[in-house]
Amino acid sequence: MIKSIHIPTLKEGKIKNKRVIVRVDFDISIRGHTIADDTRLQNTLPTLKMLLQNHNRLILISKLNRPVKRDKEHSLYLVAQRLQQYLPKYQIKLINDFLTENPETFHNQKPNDILLLENIRFYPEEKKNDPEFAKKLSLLGDVFVLDAFAMAHREEASVVGIPKFLPSFAGLLFEKEITAITHCLTEAKHPIITLIGGAKTSTKLPLLYKLTEIADYLILGGGIANTFLRYQGFNLGKSLIEDNQDDEIHKILLHAKKQNTRIILPRDFICASQETDNRGDVFPINHIPPDDKAVDIGPETQASMGVTIASARTIIWNGPFGYIENQAFSRGTDFLYYAIAANDHAYSLIGGGDTLAAIAKKEYLSKISHISTGGGAMLEFIEKGTLPGIEALQKK
Ligand code: ADP
Ligand code: MG
Repeated sequence: MIKSIHIPTLKEGKIKNKRVIVRVDFDISIRGHTIADDTRLQNTLPTLKMLLQNHNRLILISKLNRPVKRDKEHSLYLVAQRLQQYLPKYQIKLINDFLTENPETFHNQKPNDILLLENIRFYPEEKKNDPEFAKKLSLLGDVFVLDAFAMAHREEASVVGIPKFLPSFAGLLFEKEITAITHCLTEAKHPIITLIGGAKTSTKLPLLYKLTEIADYLILGGGIANTFLRYQGFNLGKSLIEDNQDDEIHKILLHAKKQNTRIILPRDFICASQETDNRGDVFPINHIPPDDKAVDIGPETQASMGVTIASARTIIWNGPFGYIENQAFSRGTDFLYYAIAANDHAYSLIGGGDTLAAIAKKEYLSKISHISTGGGAMLEFIEKGTLPGIEALQKK
């Protein structure tokens, strides 16, 4: 499933006195005008500090969320402020548009300046992996470092495009992620339990197929579970569901049966008329009110999933099991977290942007074997044993 992987790393690269473009993952969780969680930013600080100690000048690239156009809401200005707090000896400068910026800004960059390019998804060329655009980015530096592990499954210009033009290396976070996930899979002991929830059903569904070959139990929650339950004929009212997934689900169920992998779905839910309600009521799966939404897993589901988690020797988890943005509906997800942390004899791997935000401030984080910044990237790496970002670095 995963072979040992060799990628050129920062430690091997011995980068000194260079202009270094770093693709970081500053895709932190922002609510309104405040930062709700900056774990991802903190996780990339070791790479930045190491490069700075070696007298490199840094040009940082990140995306934030999914902007459809250039707007204030998706600006990196809050990120720049937060980074400034972590690196007080340096001057963080947010570059509004690197294409029209006075070239002097880049030529005269002082060793104490850190240039942070504005949200790279403001440029439509980024998602299209436009080679001309990647070339223009690459001209800003001498060396490229990829530290955004959570983006490594995306073929975008600032991830896989720039390495075509520059000597490129994996950053410390990137390397740590690959090492930890590889270790988890090569050493994995049975029973292996994977929990998959969250909202991005159509992105994650194809990954479940492969997971049925790896796991003994596949526990589903969130939008994915809803979509499975509707396929099985249950009426889920107004719950989060993705259409046109029947063929994919059919394939997964057949494959799971062949592999003798058990798929576990919720049996009861907390339902509410809106995600923003103050409270909800418990309903079994066959009695969800037609105008309600299933916003969290119910107590019976928690208990039975908890028992399965307690029996695991390896646990892989991505995706919240409820609408965690509302505290009233984050209890199911909290419960799963505590059940995983309480299992002392399992190797546990937890990943995903929203999953991280859900657990970031909890106790017992040290009981989790590896907390990955990647959700989709972690799952795709488990499935394929490689990622576009890894291959882009290996090409050199
Ligand atoms: P991750 O970032 O950890 O990979 P996703 O991005 O796939 O996870 O999904 C996270 C989102 O899923 C959260 O915003 C959460 O509110 C939402 N979610 C999970 N379960 C439900 C549910 N039952 N109803 C509505 N939203 C849900
Ligand atoms: Mg997410």
